[in-house]
Amino acid sequence: MKLNLFSVVTFLILLGSCNTHEPIEIDSQKLLETIKMLSDDALEGRAFSKPGNQRTQNIIIKKFTELGLETVVDNSFYQEFSHTFKGKIRQEIFPVKNPKEDFSNVPDTIAKGANIIGMLKGETGKSIVITAHYDHLGIRDGKIYNGADDNASGTAALFAIAEYFKNKPTKHNLIFAAVDAEEIGSLGAEYFLKNYQDASNINLNINLDMIAHSDYDPELFACGLFYYPNLRKPLERVKSDKIKLLFGHDDPDSKEQSDWTSSSDHRVFHRAKIPFIYFGVEDHKDYHRDTDTYGSINPEFYIEAVKVIIQSVENLDAHLSK
Ligand SMILES: [Zn+2]
Repeated sequence: MKLNLFSVVTFLILLGSCNTHEPIEIDSQKLLETIKMLSDDALEGRAFSKPGNQRTQNIIIKKFTELGLETVVDNSFYQEFSHTFKGKIRQEIFPVKNPKEDFSNVPDTIAKGANIIGMLKGETGKSIVITAHYDHLGIRDGKIYNGADDNASGTAALFAIAEYFKNKPTKHNLIFAAVDAEEIGSLGAEYFLKNYQDASNINLNINLDMIAHSDYDPELFACGLFYYPNLRKPLERVKSDKIKLLFGHDDPDSKEQSDWTSSSDHRVFHRAKIPFIYFGVEDHKDYHRDTDTYGSINPEFYIEAVKVIIQSVENLDAHLSK
């Protein structure tokens, strides 16, 4: 058989395409519109138990309904919990002008919060729980803390990930948990796990917290491999020519990097001996400031970060099913 140049090139292209992942398609416009909506002033910084936080819950429930997710807890997306603030602790949660004010006689306050939880069913009974906290710091000294990166970014990503996997079967159930009250000690994630009937079937927690901010190098971290090195291979296979997926921030003895093992909701799973991978960026100038707005995220980085996370979910789902 005589091969002309055209057929050789075609053959090489076909060969090449077998080795590379086909590009991840997501609705980038929708993703940006959603993070913008979740970090809008109208939600008043989404502080635990405040009206803006409750309005956020309704937005998430609407999204989960539109996506056609299944419920996980009590036939509802809405999982309510309450928390008692002891008088003195209240000072830390709702700071007042005079920090020396004596709160010892302040009566306890019971406040209500809620996780919003939905699921795409997989082929086996095993589950991957993808968490993102939707609460943030609220209004402080008259300023709204919008929390666009922290963590409207992770919350909006949940919808994009669910949309992607809606028509793409996975081995694991993908449980999407938009959790409340991370900013005051991961109360939502803790409540979810404590009350989850089937914790022994959770193979992995993937936590998303601050994935939209990149001022310098486009770097996203996957943290957790120090404790769960068997998850390295599927993450190493993730490809991106736009951002770097780095591993680290999980070695307690590291001199160069801070340890993020307990920095967000994944610690609740880690403590329960459930493996986790936490995706996030380095702390930045807008972290926990009123400048963490939609205007200070990096849209291109964010869109690519979500695609990288989707590839990671795909690879981890396959890897953990072997
Ligand atoms: Zn956060």
